[in-house]
Amino acid sequence: MWNEVYVEEGLKSHPRVLKILEKIPSAPIYVDRYDEIWGRSKKPYLHKRETLNLFLAKKEGQLLKLAPDAYGLDGEAHYYFIHAYNCIYECQYCYLQGYFNTPDIVLFMNHEDILLEMKKTLALHPGKKVWFHAGEFSDSLALSHLTGELSLYHEFCESHSEAVIELRTKSVNTKEMEKLPPLKNFITSFSLSPSEMARRVDLKTPSTNLRLKAMEKLHLMGHSIAAHFDPIIYEDDFKKNYQDLLESMGKLGLTQNLNYLSLGVVRFTKDVFREMERNYPDSLIQTGPMVKSFDNKVRYHRPMRMWMMNTIKDLSIEHGVPKDKIYLCMEENA
Ligand code: SF4
Repeated sequence: MWNEVYVEEGLKSHPRVLKILEKIPSAPIYVDRYDEIWGRSKKPYLHKRETLNLFLAKKEGQLLKLAPDAYGLDGEAHYYFIHAYNCIYECQYCYLQGYFNTPDIVLFMNHEDILLEMKKTLALHPGKKVWFHAGEFSDSLALSHLTGELSLYHEFCESHSEAVIELRTKSVNTKEMEKLPPLKNFITSFSLSPSEMARRVDLKTPSTNLRLKAMEKLHLMGHSIAAHFDPIIYEDDFKKNYQDLLESMGKLGLTQNLNYLSLGVVRFTKDVFREMERNYPDSLIQTGPMVKSFDNKVRYHRPMRMWMMNTIKDLSIEHGVPKDKIYLCMEENA
């Protein structure tokens, strides 16, 4: 899977690095700092199809970032943590395609530093629930069998009941999760789209059906689950397609048991929008009616977004998702 594997000198004998290297046949190349090479020259996003390099590194600088408004459930503090850059999947709308100079993957090894930051952050919000979201710059579970850090974050949630960690994914790689006892505040959230849309735009990801099965499995084991219908993409029969998706979820007993369901309509920064049009000129994602919006993102105009989200919200309630568990993601005064 990896063309070249780069490891920072300082991590040469780090136990997690050694474990990862055991699973990779090619000999590593040692470098002082990953960013001496990673992203130094432009590597077009779609080159990830032919060559993908892996970097094992220490994250310096900010390890936790305050999430933007309307990122999660209202009235609670939301942060995301950065444990990796880039992703093995290739969703056509993915904002990573215009974000970094390269699609090569970086896995950060200093999870203990991230956990320390989380602890400090909890102290800033005494007695309050604080959310830590993973998966902002990568998929949270896709490589979890290789990286082996989930148990550390799980332990943190076990000893800090005021912390909630969300692992956001499109993967069905639940093996590591299955080894852990369920915890209310350790949530796996699946991003879902109607089957045909996912097949056409979520390239290289497991199908919607497989994601639902993975979700069911975790739910039956007692794990906390959630769902994101995000991005919602307009197509003439979107209502019927979301109805089918919700029916499939209902049959598996998922709709009633979600910790939350977030709804978000497709949106892009200017750069990602340009990149997407260049990378996927024949995409199903219709970009015709998009406009620059309140946060400078490019999206459908507000009446259309609200109409789509409210249609899907009503359908979700009809299919058993409790109303107070649904929120509209990244919308102004939604
Ligand atoms: S799963 Fe998420 S991070 Fe990965 S390509 Fe798709 S949108 Fe991007």
